[in-house]
Amino acid sequence: LNNDKSKLSSADSDFENSIRPAAIKEFAGQPQIIENLTIFIKAAKIRGEALDHVLFHGPPGLGKTTLSRIVANEMGVNIKETSGPVIEKPGDLAGLLTSLEPNDVLFIDEIHRLSTVVEEYLYAAMEDYRIDIMIDSGPNARSVQLALSPFTLIGATTRSGLLTAPLLSRFAIKSRLEYYSLDTLQKIVLRAAGILNVTIDKAAAREIAGRSRATPRIANGLLRRVRDFAQVLNDGIIDVGITQHALKALNVDEYGLDDMDNRILASIIEKFKGGPVGLTTIATSVGEEAGTIEEVYEPFLIQEGFLQRTPRGREATEKAYKHLGKQKPGALPG
Ligand code: ADP
Repeated sequence: LNNDKSKLSSADSDFENSIRPAAIKEFAGQPQIIENLTIFIKAAKIRGEALDHVLFHGPPGLGKTTLSRIVANEMGVNIKETSGPVIEKPGDLAGLLTSLEPNDVLFIDEIHRLSTVVEEYLYAAMEDYRIDIMIDSGPNARSVQLALSPFTLIGATTRSGLLTAPLLSRFAIKSRLEYYSLDTLQKIVLRAAGILNVTIDKAAAREIAGRSRATPRIANGLLRRVRDFAQVLNDGIIDVGITQHALKALNVDEYGLDDMDNRILASIIEKFKGGPVGLTTIATSVGEEAGTIEEVYEPFLIQEGFLQRTPRGREATEKAYKHLGKQKPGALPG
């Protein structure tokens, strides 16, 4: 199942938008982030100012885009959305910034992918709400300073490790999104089912939640697929039976691990005797960037007890061996 937003088809993103919570009250989980944001938003509104710049970081599908739109909604301002690789030159950014109304939100997804020139151009805009623009060309070229309306930059990234110190320091609010608990995911599935107008019982919602890699995007995606099975085979009713049937047919991993998760574990176990093995060695072996493994895949595998970090490298746990149907050398059978 797809948990990479850049790879979502437009039908997938229409689906996502249809069930995306729009108000802070509808957003489940992340209690600390919600509590803080609620205060900051209220304070900014009392002062009639733009909210300070916000950075949301954490693995894909945990609600960074959703929260950004909620912030704009709660502030009662417009949001313009773009992403790091789309802003090719300072002029593109200038166009966006000058189109903002006072206190609007500019959302930059994948902000770690901004080019250096664009990033440096952003500094003055973030700090003093001003930009330099070049007018004329050739010998008459000169730069003039342009005042911008106060605005809030909201950056989202799965790879905060790639952000430069000067950019990081310009975000007054930095929030790391955490994986969701089973209870919260169950609520998210039940809510989404309500919006989609499908009948689902609590046990089935919990079954889906438990196989979702602790990630709302995956939970909603599974719900959508299970709904297909229910509509064709079970009069549209999602119960545990049809859920288990569908998840089996879809080959969904018991813990919701995705293909890359399983490749990482298999590689450590099969090629490196279960570890310890260094991050870069694993990365080469599975064909993924070391930083992506460290920031996107590994946190979940460690949290769920499949992987351990030791001073000498990463080690597969007994749970990982079991999951791949193997026995850890030295572990007691059974
Ligand atoms: P990100 O930007 O972190 O990749 P999104 O904000 O696009 O993730 O969220 C992905 C999907 O998960 C959306 O369809 C959204 O509705 C849903 N979602 C994310 N977080 C929550 C939440 N806390 N409550 C309900 N739905 C959520």
